[in-house]
Amino acid sequence: MTLNGKTALVTGGARGIGLGIAQRLAADGAAIALVDLNAADLSEAESQLSKSGAKVITITADVTDRQQVIDAIDSTVDQLGGFDIMINNAGIAQVQPISEITEAEMDKIHAVNVKGVLWGIQAAAARFKKDGTKGKIISASSIAGHDGFPMLGAYCSTKFAVRALTQVAAKEFAPDGITVNAYCPGVVGTDMWTEIDARFSDLTGAKKGATFDKFVGSIALGRAQTAEDVASLVSYLAGPDSDYMTGQAILIDGGMVYR
Ligand code: NAD
Repeated sequence: MTLNGKTALVTGGARGIGLGIAQRLAADGAAIALVDLNAADLSEAESQLSKSGAKVITITADVTDRQQVIDAIDSTVDQLGGFDIMINNAGIAQVQPISEITEAEMDKIHAVNVKGVLWGIQAAAARFKKDGTKGKIISASSIAGHDGFPMLGAYCSTKFAVRALTQVAAKEFAPDGITVNAYCPGVVGTDMWTEIDARFSDLTGAKKGATFDKFVGSIALGRAQTAEDVASLVSYLAGPDSDYMTGQAILIDGGMVYR
């Protein structure tokens, strides 16, 4: 129970990778604040986590709104009595050829995946400094933050940006004892991938499931990734064993992108 007495806030925690991270950090002993846009999924996730004995609260908020992120952290401290770990996990995907990305699409994906992460980094660091907490900030990048993938140009641009913010924040907040890192998953079988696969089908005529299978076929370890696979890395980044690590964006992808 490496996180006994700690409190973690997970954005996009109502389903998918975020929920997997919340389950793992709760098993590690942390109290959990789940933050998400989707109130119905939040309520389902809360009951799942509570059944396993976790201390959990839910907050409906939009990470694109800076004030809502600040308020979510304050509410976490008020309700759970502390705040030690910020997981900037919420994100959206888009699929389109680079020549067809519209201004509205680019603004939308950057609002969630880049600004949402920036507001999370800012708000968490401010609260950690106020409370004198040597906190940990951990954000979702991707293999798409290390390599460019065709049809994922807008998405890749956001995930590269997360690596940039992670490096800068790590350097700026190191004097306060705050560490900032990112996790870079590969192909995780969540609702996000169901949507990516469907969009590829619309654009290329690929059969349903074929794009997902093609990506999984390129994984050295020979299987799709699970949320638990991602959560095991995040557990390390959230715990004391990673105290000497900062500014890193770690690939965990079963062998797809090599750095
Ligand atoms: P998902 O779509 O299954 O879940 C994302 C969650 O984020 C949803 O519950 C959604 O309601 C929430 N969310 C979306 N916009 C939000 C907003 N503005 N404010 C608050 N909550 C919001 O996605 P996932 O597959 O679990 O992905 C989680 C993160 O991991 C994302 O940042 C994604 O880019 C990244 N990632 C996913 C994969 C993958 O293969 N699935 C791979 C690499 C990185």
